[in-house]
Amino acid sequence: MVDAVLDNVRKTFNDGQVVAVDDVNLTIEEGELIVLVGPSGCGKSTTLRCIAGLETPNSGRITFGGHDVTELPPKDRAVSMVFQNYALYPSMTVYENMEFGLKMRGADRETIDERVRWAADIMEIGDLLDRYPDQLSGGQQQRVALGRAIVREPAIFLLDEPLSNLDAKLRAVMRTEIQELQRKLDVATVFVTHDQEEAMSMGDRIAVMNAGDIQQVAPPSDIYHDPNSLFVADFIGSPEINLFRSSYRNGTVDLGAFDVDVPDVIATELDSGLDSDEVVTGIRPEDINVVEPGNGLLDVEVQVIEPMGDTQIIYFDVEDSRVRAVVPSARNVTEGGTVGLDVYWPNVHMFHPDGPKLVKWGNAVDVDADAESGDGVRADGHGEEAQ
Ligand code: ADP
Ligand code: MG
Repeated sequence: MVDAVLDNVRKTFNDGQVVAVDDVNLTIEEGELIVLVGPSGCGKSTTLRCIAGLETPNSGRITFGGHDVTELPPKDRAVSMVFQNYALYPSMTVYENMEFGLKMRGADRETIDERVRWAADIMEIGDLLDRYPDQLSGGQQQRVALGRAIVREPAIFLLDEPLSNLDAKLRAVMRTEIQELQRKLDVATVFVTHDQEEAMSMGDRIAVMNAGDIQQVAPPSDIYHDPNSLFVADFIGSPEINLFRSSYRNGTVDLGAFDVDVPDVIATELDSGLDSDEVVTGIRPEDINVVEPGNGLLDVEVQVIEPMGDTQIIYFDVEDSRVRAVVPSARNVTEGGTVGLDVYWPNVHMFHPDGPKLVKWGNAVDVDADAESGDGVRADGHGEEAQ
């Protein structure tokens, strides 16, 4: 088993006019499944192609198990890659598609047969070996593409949005299959997706990428609960986090509709991290509580309700911002009705307007919050539940 290490990898195109990968540092541990996630065009495929040897970085270093492979051609790296358009050869049977790579490398008949049957067995496509690609469903084609990639027993396994062509249900099934496959193979694997929900459901760790840089690498729950920047907080999570442009002065954060006196420890963090009084306050939709009118920080009118099964998303306006709250579907609310709002302060984040995280309130919380209109109401965490 080997790990893969990217060390200050940079890749530009068009004489440096396009910076696809700016300065990436990433270690993929032995046997680990890491998901590289970010918006379209942020440099995910280019990063993967550098690992595969399909692109050579302008600068930086890539090592596998401590060996420098930066300049090695793809065929001399023990890497397998699966692409979005998995492009099976249409005129070859499943068996021929799967043996192709080994044959090109001049492996002997017996080894080829053994490897193809091993891979077919793992992917449960043993009964499809004589079929042609156009006789297969989308899911079967994807399994063949995965089987073809693993016959060579890669040391590093790379998957570039391999599920994009599948419908939602099949995609969910294949996510689990790929996780199981990866555990069986026990090789360092990078799975690329632009879909944050897919990323959250799959990785041992997630690397969040934006504009050529990796912003944060951490297990899914850390990424969600402790985003290190505005970008990560905003990109991860559905429905999205609520972000409020706010101002901070002398221990008080003014969110427009209400202000909050922050605990001393939070004030100290903000005092040292801010260079102006601008701050962005982030509150996840499930950390906004709906209570009886008059019992919360402020009362709002429910604009839209989106039922989600056991939960519902409630949309309302606070000042000029559309705000989202996720509450149990048992909570009786109606569009056009009035509810009170509370905030679960320990999960509230504050960011510098340029992006870096300043502080998460955590348990240092003993908060005094006052609605700017109406009577000041003390907010203490969950507040009173509406019936
Ligand atoms: P992602 O996979 O995250 O969508 P890519 O790595 O494909 O992003 O692309 C990152 C950036 O590099 C994009 O702006 C893309 O247009 C550019 N790019 C990628 N490959 C090339 C290329 N061969 N020539 C020029 N620009 C490229
Ligand atoms: Mg891509």
